[in-house]
Amino acid sequence: MLGRQLIDGQWRSEGTLIPTVNPSDLDEIVGQYPQASLADAQEALAVARAQLPSWSRTNIQKRADILRKTGDLLLARANDVGTLLAREEGKTLAEGIGETVRAAQVFHYFAGEVLRHPGQWHDSLRDGHNVIVSYEPVGVVAAITPWNFPIAIPAWKTAAALAYGNTVILKPSEFAPGCAVQLAEMLVEAGLPAGVFNLLLGNGRVIGQTLVEEADAVTFTGATPTGRHILQMAAPAMTKVQLELGGKNPFIVLDDADLDVAVEAAAQGTWGQTGQRCTGSERIIVTKGIHDAFVERLIKAVDAFRVGHALDSSTQIGPVANLAQLEKNLGFIERARASGAEVAVGGHLVEARTRGHFLAPTLFLDTDNRMELNREEIFGPVAGIIKVEDFDEAIAVAGDCELALSSGIATTSLRNAERYRRESTAGMVTVNAPTAGVEYHVPFGGRAPSGFGGREQGSASAEFFTEIKTTYINHGVL
Ligand code: NAD
Repeated sequence: MLGRQLIDGQWRSEGTLIPTVNPSDLDEIVGQYPQASLADAQEALAVARAQLPSWSRTNIQKRADILRKTGDLLLARANDVGTLLAREEGKTLAEGIGETVRAAQVFHYFAGEVLRHPGQWHDSLRDGHNVIVSYEPVGVVAAITPWNFPIAIPAWKTAAALAYGNTVILKPSEFAPGCAVQLAEMLVEAGLPAGVFNLLLGNGRVIGQTLVEEADAVTFTGATPTGRHILQMAAPAMTKVQLELGGKNPFIVLDDADLDVAVEAAAQGTWGQTGQRCTGSERIIVTKGIHDAFVERLIKAVDAFRVGHALDSSTQIGPVANLAQLEKNLGFIERARASGAEVAVGGHLVEARTRGHFLAPTLFLDTDNRMELNREEIFGPVAGIIKVEDFDEAIAVAGDCELALSSGIATTSLRNAERYRRESTAGMVTVNAPTAGVEYHVPFGGRAPSGFGGREQGSASAEFFTEIKTTYINHGVL
């Protein structure tokens, strides 16, 4: 595909084009995309600012209709978008279509939020006075997104921002921008006025500072170091910042766990979507009584995963999304081996019918929480088992990591589940379910340094995408 930027309703593809390569088939170029210049960024910022007054005052039924129509178009084109996603990012076709359907649901949800978003009315402490609390758009929103959910994350930032009356500049990942281009086409087709949504492409490092300094708000999803840098750039201008960052998510298996449920949740939560989910489990913490039985079953489950071309119907685990990520994963595997961890399954590249970044799902045994494997986010199909004495030690090990995004437990005891819910420091807790797989109608996010600046999704999104105004009214003279 020929990638295009969208600025003020004009499609642009001039300048040097940078290709994306199919990670399932390195001989296939998927798209060619321009790189946004500083001038592009400044123009997009100016038109987004110019459109803010009219979009924020656009009739709410019209705003809702545009969002709903965008959702309808995403649903109607879920096969096309999902296929492009699978070719450019490497998710299986089923995962790619599923993610596109989720993006459609997000647009439908926020179409409803346009009409639902309430203000407040209070009695005043002063006789004859009232207080109105209203929510206003935060302004021009820059949305910067990663490669691992190339349609869902652009959708959930864009839909929320537009619903609450903001104008948007979306900068998707340079590794998988194709779905964002398609989303931009659908927003235009749905009737969004020119300049309300603008799309800039390429590496965020080129235009990041300009966006962060001149937008009113930046919603960013990506790696923790990039997020920290954005926060530093935002400080002088006091740009409002929301950061959704990395995870090193623990999944605890207690002696009283249901073995089937525990194995399924660990396998799906860790290796699903090639382990490239910020909420994926990367540390599997198992109490000693169930350890051997659980490990035996988990090894079988991991070994049975079929790795291959993302578009092959038999594939369960697609390729690693890009070369840099594959090299990073292999580095972690090599260093874990060198530090004494035992590879129970995987740890090697896989041959398929095409040349691609195929990595076998990898499980290490005999790891401990001091190893790099269990401290740094890998973001690939690689995890280690940590054997612990009891629940107390499991909780201590799970909490002994500064990244606090998601966190899971397998147990049949309500008491244990409730204790873990209370004591976990993660932003999200799952009980007898994978640590990944969040829904769009409830808050999503983690505590620093996994997240910063308010949750996304559900009605919690309003906190970031709106500003509060408190108005005192003396009725005596009205
Ligand atoms: P990344 O930080 O390398 O890139 C993310 C985006 O930031 C890209 O669009 C990139 O172009 C842009 N960028 C890079 N430098 C920039 C700068 N200086 N200024 C402005 N923009 C800049 O992340 P990635 O490799 O694309 O994604 C993987 C990471 O994303 C993982 O750490 C993962 O955990 C995280 N992630 C988090 C969540 C979450 O919701 N918490 C969800 C998905 C992914």
